[in-house]
Amino acid sequence: MKYRDLHIETQRQAPNNARTEGFSLLVRAGYLTRENVLTELGEYTINHLHDLSSDESFLPSRASGQRFHLSLPTIGNDNETFLPIASGSIEVAHCSACKYTERLEFAHFKKTPLPQEEQLPLEKILTPDCHTIEALANLLNIPKEKTAKALMYTHVSDGKFIFVVVRGDMQASEAKLKQNIGDIRPATADEIANSGAAIGYASPVGLKDILIVVDDLIPQSQNLVAGANETGYHLKNTNYRRDYIAEVVVDLIQAKASDACFHCRNPLSVLSADLVATNWKYNFESLLRALAKTHHDDKGLTLPHPAAPFDVYLMHLPGKEMDTRVKAEEIYNSLQSAGISVLFDDRDERAGVKFNGADLIGCPVRVTVGEKGLKEGMVELKLRKEKENRLVPMDKIVEEIKSSSMK
Ligand SMILES: [Zn+2]
Repeated sequence: MKYRDLHIETQRQAPNNARTEGFSLLVRAGYLTRENVLTELGEYTINHLHDLSSDESFLPSRASGQRFHLSLPTIGNDNETFLPIASGSIEVAHCSACKYTERLEFAHFKKTPLPQEEQLPLEKILTPDCHTIEALANLLNIPKEKTAKALMYTHVSDGKFIFVVVRGDMQASEAKLKQNIGDIRPATADEIANSGAAIGYASPVGLKDILIVVDDLIPQSQNLVAGANETGYHLKNTNYRRDYIAEVVVDLIQAKASDACFHCRNPLSVLSADLVATNWKYNFESLLRALAKTHHDDKGLTLPHPAAPFDVYLMHLPGKEMDTRVKAEEIYNSLQSAGISVLFDDRDERAGVKFNGADLIGCPVRVTVGEKGLKEGMVELKLRKEKENRLVPMDKIVEEIKSSSMK
């Protein structure tokens, strides 16, 4: 392809609305407009990535099961494929040992129950100004895991009052709750009062006509301190089954970094990532954005082969005595016949402008055809990843490119 045929326009300045370096570079390199729309170069690249998607050595597929690739170290499960990136918009839990990967809010982990105890008699105690688990644990001088945390919701579909209990040291995942019982919203103060519960002092003990949902660790936890449904009072030694029973017992806890992997007990890590495929179907625009975030330096994109839309950025420097453009055209034709994809910067621009463009667009190799080299039968070859360039005989350029850059 020729530069002018694709109507490429690179930008010196980062767009004002750039949220990430990747977006900023895609705009500056002319893949996206400032309005976040694909340009001709962007469309060309998307089509190129689409063509590559049949090649399992580039994009992991369900069939290959091979997740990790040099240019695209993805993680994921059968439904979703992520690319970990510091500026990624999704938090995922990941096990480096067995490769378990799940969105954080849905991730499972191995919970450790407290040592089993004999059930003690229920006891109502005065606990003034204990609206939080912290305050309660401090007042009674007990660990937070010996308390029951109450969360109250209302079913959106039928208005049913929902009482959720998790262990006091744990954070409930609203996503898991919705996955198990459907759409919910936080209960209003009136709805809480109508249920018989007291805000800050609530428990399901003694409440009627409500849906009780507990985390699966609750039936294994004895003698928890829970609200007495009376302001200023708590109940000591509440026990699931003896004092209340739930309609739904299920995992409701949000995993966190270093929780034990559900499958192999290795500590989980929490990573920021971007979603690049759903059911192994890649979203090529997301893929391009992810590649830009992971492959760049301060001069522009450094897209790897074969993800880059072109292997070679070919440019000529207008000469005083020789027609460098004719020679560049010859090289353009011979590279293309050798199956190497080329973007030919055929503009009559200054060297500096073209070099900047080449760095921004980020093809793996730059070939520069200049008068000085041509007099010796040489052209200049530079790899995008390297600082130095070298002179290569014109008739060796195809071999050189194939051996040095397309691995
Ligand atoms: Zn694991």
